Amino acid sequence: MPQQDGVNRRQFISRTLPGAVGAGLTTGGVFGTAAAPEDDAPRIRQYRPLGRTGFQASDICSGGPTDPNILRAVLDAGVNYIDTAESYGRGNSEQIVGEVLKNRDRKKYFITTKLHVEKQPGKQEILDRFAKCRERLQTGYVDCLMMHGAPNTGQVKMESFHEAVRQLKADGHLRFAGLSSHGPRDRENYDPMDKVLLAAAEDGRFDVMLLVYNFVQREQGERVLRACREKNIGATLMKTNPVGKYLGVQEEIRTIEDQGRPVPDSYEQALKRYEQEMEAAQAFLQAGNLREPGEIRDAAIRFVLKNEAVSSVCIRFSNFELVDASLKLSGSVLTGKDEKKLSLFRERCGRLYCRHACGECEAACPRGVPVNTIMRYDHYFQSQQREKEAMAKYAALPGEGAAACRDCAGDCQRACPHGVPIQAMLHLAHRRLTLI
Ligand code: SF4
Ligand code: SF4
Repeated sequence: MPQQDGVNRRQFISRTLPGAVGAGLTTGGVFGTAAAPEDDAPRIRQYRPLGRTGFQASDICSGGPTDPNILRAVLDAGVNYIDTAESYGRGNSEQIVGEVLKNRDRKKYFITTKLHVEKQPGKQEILDRFAKCRERLQTGYVDCLMMHGAPNTGQVKMESFHEAVRQLKADGHLRFAGLSSHGPRDRENYDPMDKVLLAAAEDGRFDVMLLVYNFVQREQGERVLRACREKNIGATLMKTNPVGKYLGVQEEIRTIEDQGRPVPDSYEQALKRYEQEMEAAQAFLQAGNLREPGEIRDAAIRFVLKNEAVSSVCIRFSNFELVDASLKLSGSVLTGKDEKKLSLFRERCGRLYCRHACGECEAACPRGVPVNTIMRYDHYFQSQQREKEAMAKYAALPGEGAAACRDCAGDCQRACPHGVPIQAMLHLAHRRLTLI
């Protein structure tokens, strides 16, 4: 087996306890806690109620599995919630889940898959696509079917989806319905993430949600989590770590300069401002004795786990090193030191984060650039090792993407309430996503 970024499967397994799924649960407090940890082995130590589904989900779960060996390892370490989608790797992620689960006790795991339904497919199309999901997953039933990335409140009421869900439940192929939202996708027809998810909570037909929540982008998520708690809806999280690879960006700026390519004045100003933000971020790193901002990741995950309305944090495990680092956080508690780090990060680096599920500046753009969507794809490229997929998604966007930002006065930047130097970030994202 190939070595995986510092920690390979054998090293990983030798430090995990076998058969941890559902084992050793106690019922004290809100959360079930696995047997008291006597070591720092990477394994699940806490299970939380997944709303009214009645399932006890591992507090860290597998989001969009891409490698069967990694998935096997995390399941062996106690992960029992798997979030996948029809569109992840064009069905490949579901196939991996099916392969890995086929020889395991199906009842111990909760599988969520998702379908994009923005184009308003009819009931039969939804049933047909779901049947293919189930085939790839090699399972008689799926625990939860979510609307994937619901863009607006109107979508929540889509009757063909609800009729399909009713039939699938009656046929015993589905147990629960859910939805996820990223917020903006296009300017014409979107509502902010919290509005979409609050409408879904109010609707009453959704049992589980997948939402953006992290220590910088808090307000929207906290509103939704309160509603989930009130209505007993399971809440799973994505984008819990807002920290990007900022240091690499400095090198990219140097490359542009070294290439001696003509850069419009507006870009130079944008890049200059970005560099100033970078300097502030560097100061933060030095003050915190950190090599890179990613080192605050543990505190970032502990921050979201502190919220009792959170059922599980979805992590896209791309290598064993990440598995190791993430599972160690199961059941861990946010410390005062963590809180100080996070608050310092917010102050010094918060302006370098284009908030997921935001899009507030997009109305100010005269050229209709989907700012937040482009930055999400850039996040996939930079932080989730999904380079090809991110580039394909970017290429499929209508219009010319961030190429439209050339020679622009940068109205989006002035409209951003968080002071993000977005014009330069769009420029750099465009370079990455088109490999120019
Ligand atoms: S640049 Fe600012 S306003 Fe625009 S999407 Fe990003 S965080 Fe939101
Ligand atoms: S730089 Fe100009 S074109 Fe690009 S998103 Fe901002 S306002 Fe729109």
